[in-house]
This record gives sequence, structure tokens and C-alpha cells, in this order.
Amino acid sequence: MTEERIIFRGRRVPPSWPATLEAAQARKTTVVDGIAYERVRFGDEEDDWGADRGPCHDCAAVKGEFHVPGCDVERCPACAGQAIGCDCERASEDG
Ligand SMILES: [Zn+2]
Ligand SMILES: [Zn+2]
Repeated sequence: MTEERIIFRGRRVPPSWPATLEAAQARKTTVVDGIAYERVRFGDEEDDWGADRGPCHDCAAVKGEFHVPGCDVERCPACAGQAIGCDCERASEDG
């Protein structure tokens, strides 16, 4: 376990984070209750999470990018709730 952090888009993140965020862009869908949904891009949420003011406070995605899976801002495309907090059945690789 390392506490090393770099500054990325004004956020303190692990050194591997830019690559993690990049990889997240390739995952355009998420499977909820056995149905594949298009993931919700930062700025497409029903609520205003600050996409017009800067990167996501949790995962540093910018407007129009996908959040890193597990980000506490990402919405569930099935129920519009918090992706990491809703009650939908999600595929295990979605974390
Ligand atoms: Zn995010
Ligand atoms: Zn849900």
C-alpha cells in the first residue's frame, strides 16, 4: 500500500489514475439486471455535479467523459440513482 499521489487536473490521485480514467473511457456500457445500458457521462446526470465548473470531484473525469467505475458521482443508467449506492443488480466487473 502506497500513499503516493500526483496532481492530475487539480486533484490528488494515485499515480496510476490517469491510465485508470483513460481505460474507463473504453467501457461505454454497464450491465444492470442483465441489461446492457450506456453509461452516464459526466455532465449528463439529472443533477448538477459541477461538470461546467471543473473535473469530477471524485474521479477527475471532465465533462463528456465517463466516470471511473466506483466514482461516487456516477449515476446508475437504470434507476438514475447513485451507481455505487443503488439497489440494482450489477455485473461484478463494475465493482
Ligand atoms: Zn467521477
Ligand atoms: Zn440503479
